[in-house]
Amino acid sequence: MTPSAGIVGAGIMGRMLALALRRKGWDVTLFDRDTEHGTQSCTWTGAGMIAPYCELEAAEQLITALGVRSMDLWPDWMQHFAKPVYYKDGGSLVVAHPNDRLELERLKRRVSDNAPRPDIMREINAAQIGELEPELAERFSSGLYFPFEQHLDNRDLLHAMATTLHRDGVRWITGVEIQSVNAGRVEGPDTWSFDWVFDCRGVGAKEELPTLRGVRGELLYLHAPEVNLSRPVRIMHPRQSIYIVPRPNQIYVVGATAIESEDVREITVRSSLELLSAAYTVHTGFAEARLLETSVSARPALPDNLPRFFVRDGLARINGLYRHGFLIAPALCELMLSYLDRGTAPEDGAKLFEQETV
Ligand SMILES: Cc1cc2nc3c(=O)[nH]c(=O)nc-3n(C[C@H](O)[C@H](O)[C@H](O)COP(=O)(O)OP(=O)(O)OC[C@H]3O[C@@H](n4cnc5c(N)ncnc54)[C@H](O)[C@@H]3O)c2cc1C
Repeated sequence: MTPSAGIVGAGIMGRMLALALRRKGWDVTLFDRDTEHGTQSCTWTGAGMIAPYCELEAAEQLITALGVRSMDLWPDWMQHFAKPVYYKDGGSLVVAHPNDRLELERLKRRVSDNAPRPDIMREINAAQIGELEPELAERFSSGLYFPFEQHLDNRDLLHAMATTLHRDGVRWITGVEIQSVNAGRVEGPDTWSFDWVFDCRGVGAKEELPTLRGVRGELLYLHAPEVNLSRPVRIMHPRQSIYIVPRPNQIYVVGATAIESEDVREITVRSSLELLSAAYTVHTGFAEARLLETSVSARPALPDNLPRFFVRDGLARINGLYRHGFLIAPALCELMLSYLDRGTAPEDGAKLFEQETV
């Protein structure tokens, strides 16, 4: 008999899992309180970098391993989507102003100590920076280049996933507030029953996952006709590194803050000033940029900032993607499918599975 799945939450995790289960022939229903655009999701705000090595700045090696696996899986996902997504694999660049050179050194050491292979990072000089990003020539005397890293347009991705969900025949119930997610059962204004239920509600799952917290992140969308950058540029800073991530048509995402707060009200003046001045110090062409939009959301995080599968028969809660949703969702999806096939946690991800007690 065809197995049935109810998936609650249509951010990157819920959409990807819905597509993956559908590909395996499951009968899938997806629920979200939002519309199909997904503007209330954290995925709508996220910058879309797939940067497993740069993230070593603050993340564990396990995140790098999941990210490296996801970088292998993304091209297959891109092939599967019903429409093309802005997705690039030209690497990332990390630079620092003279006063912050120690931060660059610190990142270099941290990556060298934890790198799975020596070729994932190259130390480059001013001329080599100019070869990669001509408009940054002579602005920085040295930098780090991560040739294999990727980035994508998160909103394009949400849209492509929505189109594919329809093409593939996933039932999608939008605008529905789900009150409780349990083994085999989803409860909102109605009650729905399935063989398996997957809770992918991000911060919205707090009531059932009390250790979950939101980490506020703010970013800006700029239209900068005088700036031509082709890959994410990260600027090291003692407080928080700031990045500029290109989108088509000279639009740039500049982010992001990380504040221990679930407040998702508008961006503050302090954060706007920090982000804008960081962008301007990288490229003076940002002076004439137009500020198109600000975006704020709360990243779903567990106490150790690692993702988890909380499982019991008929139920899996996948959460804690924190600042790594685009980086790790394909690998998490693969681990989930492997768990469903085997009935037990796969060895390479065993640490991430926890049995949920009733
Ligand atoms: C500023 C910022 C920058 C980021 N940059 C990056 C980056 O460059 N690279 C990277 O890998 N990650 C990045 N992230 C992190 C990434 O965006 C998240 O890890 C990811 O989006 C989490 O996805 P999710 O599917 O778990 O949750 P979400 O995207 O939040 O999806 C959860 C869904 O559940 C729905 N929902 C919640 N509660 C209910 C309910 N009761 N009933 C019905 N529906 C409900 C919501 O409407 C939502 O659609 C960034 C995040 C932020 C905030």
